[in-house]
Amino acid sequence: MADNKLYEILGVSRSASDNEIKKQYRKLAKEYHPDKNPQAGDKFKEISYAYEVLSDPKKRQVYDKYGLKGMQEGAQEGGFGGDLFSHLFGGDLFGGFPGFGPGVRRQRQRGEDTIHPLKVSLEDMYNGKTAKLQLSKNVICASCRGKGGKTGAVQPCRTCKGCGVKVSYRQLAPGMTQQMQSRCSDCQGEGEVINEKDRCPTCHGKKVCNETKILEVHVDKGMTENQKIFFRGEGDQQPDVEPGDVVIILQQKSHEKFQRNGDDLYFNYTINLTEALCGFSFVVHHLDGRDLVVKHPPGQVIKPGDVKAVVGEGMPHYKNPFEKGNLYVTFDIKFPEKNFTSENKLKLLETLLPPRPDFKKPVGEHVEDVDLMDYDLNERATSSGRGEAYASDDEEHMHGGPGIQCAHQ
Ligand SMILES: [Zn+2]
Ligand SMILES: [Zn+2]
Repeated sequence: MADNKLYEILGVSRSASDNEIKKQYRKLAKEYHPDKNPQAGDKFKEISYAYEVLSDPKKRQVYDKYGLKGMQEGAQEGGFGGDLFSHLFGGDLFGGFPGFGPGVRRQRQRGEDTIHPLKVSLEDMYNGKTAKLQLSKNVICASCRGKGGKTGAVQPCRTCKGCGVKVSYRQLAPGMTQQMQSRCSDCQGEGEVINEKDRCPTCHGKKVCNETKILEVHVDKGMTENQKIFFRGEGDQQPDVEPGDVVIILQQKSHEKFQRNGDDLYFNYTINLTEALCGFSFVVHHLDGRDLVVKHPPGQVIKPGDVKAVVGEGMPHYKNPFEKGNLYVTFDIKFPEKNFTSENKLKLLETLLPPRPDFKKPVGEHVEDVDLMDYDLNERATSSGRGEAYASDDEEHMHGGPGIQCAHQ
């Protein structure tokens, strides 16, 4: 019940008659009309809105009962959102208000930022780069200086009373009305109209023209994924609106060799068993074109999954590019193929390798010799038929087919 705002805007009491409201509205609308009083900001729109609600018995009833908040809740389902309310009545005055375009007269509202993703390679983030980005943007029409037409050609829209919004009601149930808001179709939400013949021939009354602009984006050494580069005030221009920024968001293309985590680089490298046991050298072709020769001495065995670091060969620190992260190498070991050498040579090899663990074969009735077969996990799913054949070929086994199946699982 406490909500009295719309009455206050018109300067009338809650019990004011329709006639009083109308009279007061006319007086204020004259005073605050944007053409006469462009400094008044949103005042005219507030007045129009207050009148719109209070001059309609249905709307006034809803407002008296539920206040602005109640109407806002109804409005949110109407497609336009509650923006009008939060906008006019103390919300975020500079927030997005898409329904009200260039026609809104307001003290330096700030336009939306234009976001551009920019894909860059890891090499570019390492070495730095200047990328040229072509973008099209709206600029104030030079011919009409953003007026849209000759002086006097611009008139407030009569349908929406300059508000840009059409409000309609839907009865949900007796005593319950839902308010719907939509963009005024007569002025496309602009709140004003220009006669066809009076429109600026350059921008056709749109007040802005499209222009192609090339921005030089400096990708500095050490910049990271999702880092933002700002071009202040380079966003779309609209009359009476401070243009937003163009914001470039860096996106790193995936690299075929390196992964990055902060200032560190990671990559996987496969050596063979001989290298793992006897030492090795290899070359890392780095992001700046250098070839790093990595050496590992014999005798310091590398196991699969071991990670080693080349200190100071990671990514440069942003703004301090002489400092760098580390380069980490995760090793995989390629083992020799089967039958890679003769039995005699294996015996010789064995004399060089660490000794086997002790093995004592158990004795007795319960001891069985079994073979290891090559086994393919993919074949397992279709191996039930084979399992049975296996069992019947081998009747002397104590266990039948199912027993072998169990052994596999
Ligand atoms: Zn309109
Ligand atoms: Zn123009």
